[in-house]
Amino acid sequence: MRLQKFLASSGIASRRKSEDLIKEGIVKVNGKIITEMGYKIDPEKDQITVRDKKVNIKEAYVYVLLNKPTGYITTASDQFNRKKVIDLVNLPYRLFPVGRLDYNTSGLLLLTNDGELTFKLTHPKFKVEKTYIARVEGKPSQEEQRAFERGLRIEDYVTSPAKLKIIKEEHQNSILEIKIREGKNRQVRKMCAAIGHPVVSLKRIAVGKIKLGKLPSGEWRYLTTEELQYLK
Ligand code: URA
Repeated sequence: MRLQKFLASSGIASRRKSEDLIKEGIVKVNGKIITEMGYKIDPEKDQITVRDKKVNIKEAYVYVLLNKPTGYITTASDQFNRKKVIDLVNLPYRLFPVGRLDYNTSGLLLLTNDGELTFKLTHPKFKVEKTYIARVEGKPSQEEQRAFERGLRIEDYVTSPAKLKIIKEEHQNSILEIKIREGKNRQVRKMCAAIGHPVVSLKRIAVGKIKLGKLPSGEWRYLTTEELQYLK
């Protein structure tokens, strides 16, 4: 992270003013005066001082929407050393994913350091509707569709009512829009397999009213004030 950006996000000065502080020669990184604009620091490891007073990154709450690519894990560590979603969001905060998306699932993932909101959104009681686009093998019949929507026995539980709409038919596959309010492990994949149409690819496009839109894969944006008000 650039030194002036760090100073600005710590809340001690605006971006312009932070540049002035650097130019004045009163900013030190690990005890050394830095006057170079754009000097890169590691907010987790480096010690930054202004007039010899330590600057801490502001512990503000941050809310981020990421378009997760496939091939990334949502957990913070992994025994296989696979790529992590957290590395796609270059911010000096300890952010945590709100719920999970599988390694091979892409799409909308919220990240925040607001534990209360994470708790609320992942708690079964709140039942936020999640929308997925799934490419599955074959095409579900009306009976299979009804079974999906009514509830399916999966391992030791029965799924709550869900929605399934066929939006496109391909040669050997079909594209489905699926809406569920639960978030059990690999639930969409298990539900599709249970009606005999295994998932080929899966993408989440909405959490409640919050939509992925045209955000490119691997990119993130902050939630808008309206989105945040809606979630809280
Ligand atoms: N359901 C799944 O099967 N996988 C996900 O990543 C999300 C929902």
